[in-house]
Amino acid sequence: MVATSNPPASEEPARDAVEALREIYAELDAALVALGGECRACGRCCTFPPGSPVLYATLVERWYLARTPPPPFPPRAAEACPYMDPEARTCGARERRTLGCRTHFCDVAMPSRSAREAAHKLNERALERLRDVVKDCGAAWDYAPVVPWLHELFGHGGSVD
Ligand code: SF4
Ligand code: SF4
Repeated sequence: MVATSNPPASEEPARDAVEALREIYAELDAALVALGGECRACGRCCTFPPGSPVLYATLVERWYLARTPPPPFPPRAAEACPYMDPEARTCGARERRTLGCRTHFCDVAMPSRSAREAAHKLNERALERLRDVVKDCGAAWDYAPVVPWLHELFGHGGSVD
């Protein structure tokens, strides 16, 4: 099944929240460069098999990510993020990916443990800023697992066929 829908308009966060989110992402990305990680884009951490860490994000991030439905990629693992291209092993929503997507580095992508911990701290700080933004906008925080939400939104169980 191919993704066809957008998030319900009733869930759309205020424009201020989306603009602030973009600023937070840009500043976070700049700070991450200094840590020297180099993701090899293997896509492994975007497939989420049972027992693996779960990717969480607040509603404004999920809504922003889902603004454009995933392309009709070939079949992929049922638990995989619908934006992960199973052939190229790359993210099909790189500009809109969540804080967790941006700050997760495996030990191959970022061998230094202290750098990985620094990335984690940057994530926490960005999340705190985002919490303030969401509060100021009166939007819902709704911190929830991303991938099941995307599959529910786009109406497929992970395999696009
Ligand atoms: S962080 Fe690691 S596991 Fe994830 S895509 Fe990059 S290289 Fe692959
Ligand atoms: S949004 Fe992109 S980086 Fe994040 S889990 Fe999905 S494919 Fe991976």
